[in-house]
Amino acid sequence: MNLILFGPPGAGKGTQAKLLIDKFSIVQISTGDMLREEIKSGSDLGDAVKSIMERGDLISDEIIMSMIEKRITSEDCKNGFILDGFPRTYKQAVNLDLVLKNLNLKIDNVIEINVNEDLLLKRIIKRAAESKTTRDDDNSKILKNRINVYKNETLPVLEYYRELKKLHSVNGMQDIEKVSKDILSILC
Ligand code: ADP
Repeated sequence: MNLILFGPPGAGKGTQAKLLIDKFSIVQISTGDMLREEIKSGSDLGDAVKSIMERGDLISDEIIMSMIEKRITSEDCKNGFILDGFPRTYKQAVNLDLVLKNLNLKIDNVIEINVNEDLLLKRIIKRAAESKTTRDDDNSKILKNRINVYKNETLPVLEYYRELKKLHSVNGMQDIEKVSKDILSILC
């Protein structure tokens, strides 16, 4: 089974992904984690993406696609995968389908974890303001940028899957167990 977990920062994607990994013996592929690993390892790619990520902007579709293509063809993905943080642009979504088609694979379901946007914004801006590691206004400026990027670049991805009738939305403002239950009732 190949899935996409969709939702803004703070929606609880990580928590739900863990449950699905165990339940279906599939792997989680987080482009954000992969990029952070590259930065940590000090690779050329890591150096190239560091400042872009720090601004809350998106990494180029070309870099992301080549990373993903390599990852989904590895041995541990043969049972299936959960994509987390990808696709994040319309172009990535279209290119993903091309790559999958060549591999005789497809996305089975896209799960959107829905959260009330105002509340989410308040929550993450408050969290940033309380953090002592960076200047407050810097932090909330970056967060606001990330929300804007999400709205402008990433929301069209939802429309893409809605048209393909693959999109399912669950209410992410419920407790963790209830969100899991709702996701499983879509998949099982
Ligand atoms: P979040 O905290 O929102 O879950 P991620 O960990 O998924 O964020 O991603 C962190 C950063 O990594 C993004 O702000 C972006 O700069 C970069 N990134 C991750 N995935 C992608 C992608 N699919 N396309 C472009 N940039 C990405």
